[in-house]
Amino acid sequence: MTRSPAVLRLTLAYLAILMALSLTFSYLLFHLSNKQFSQELRQPSSYEWIEPDFVINFDRFRDSRLNEAQRQLMNDLIIINVATLVFGSMLSYGLARRTIHPIERALEAQSRFTADASHELRTPLTTLQTEIEVSLRDKKLTVKDAKKQLESNLEEVIKLRDLSDRLLKLARNEKEIKLIKTNSQQVARDAIEKVEFMAVRKNITLDNQTSSIAVMANPEHLQDVLVILLDNAIKYSPTKSTVTITSRRKGNLGIIDVSDQGQGIKPADLPYIFDRFYRADNSRSKDKVNGYGLGLSIAHKLITSQKGSIEAKSVINKGSTFTVKLPLAY
Ligand code: ADP
Repeated sequence: MTRSPAVLRLTLAYLAILMALSLTFSYLLFHLSNKQFSQELRQPSSYEWIEPDFVINFDRFRDSRLNEAQRQLMNDLIIINVATLVFGSMLSYGLARRTIHPIERALEAQSRFTADASHELRTPLTTLQTEIEVSLRDKKLTVKDAKKQLESNLEEVIKLRDLSDRLLKLARNEKEIKLIKTNSQQVARDAIEKVEFMAVRKNITLDNQTSSIAVMANPEHLQDVLVILLDNAIKYSPTKSTVTITSRRKGNLGIIDVSDQGQGIKPADLPYIFDRFYRADNSRSKDKVNGYGLGLSIAHKLITSQKGSIEAKSVINKGSTFTVKLPLAY
């Protein structure tokens, strides 16, 4: 059980409020009750026919009853306040934990995200810096070398821009997303158009088997998701293979599948692929496969903000299928 200083501070604050209320209430109760007691036991002053002895006895009796009642009330109030302190501490601690923990988790996620993002940004920046410094120190640098150098620098700059675009997409708040009746076949066509040049480069066939199914979605975001899935399918597939995109209806859902015949994902990696910055070992070791481990986390974020879901199935060395489910539009 963690006891963070923030939880303890909030516990003390809650307890202070509770005890202040309890003590104020006790104080008022004590004084009002005393007033009530003394009024009820007040001696009838105008009854002059009462014998003096009776008056003295009555005074004593009244004082002793008053004292006894006061003592009893004081004892009860002390017990109530001690009980409030004990149970109040426990209650305040529980409440403080419930209040602070979600905030701490969000802050932790935020700082982890910032740390991971800075780490990823550092790598291309360091490469750029080293390359530029080496070129500047090279006194025999020819125009041809310089051009080659600039080309390499440009590549790093493109990577950096891609990374910052993806980071922005992840950081953006997507609460007010507008969902409209969207033709999944049209969106699939547009997404394919965007990645076609990559498929051509690897001699990969993009097989569009989607039918005209209307789903409730944000067309731009759905297209972004399909581009990410198709881009991955192409990146992690061998040349001359096929990437297929299909759509179907199931109950009140429209389902889009993106399947490839690529390297597949190890069962041990599968639960983490939608995490930010997660890259399976085989993707990291292969120098040629560029990426930051952000694509699928963006896809996941975009799909859940459209009230849909995304999941992956994979068989190593056989291929992977990513399934997007969205509510049907009628
Ligand atoms: P990346 O930029 O590394 O591609 P993603 O978030 O898109 O980041 O994917 C996370 C990881 O999931 C990848 O590094 C890769 O290991 C794995 N992965 C994603 N799609 C596929 C796929 N179609 N085939 C095999 N592995 C995949």
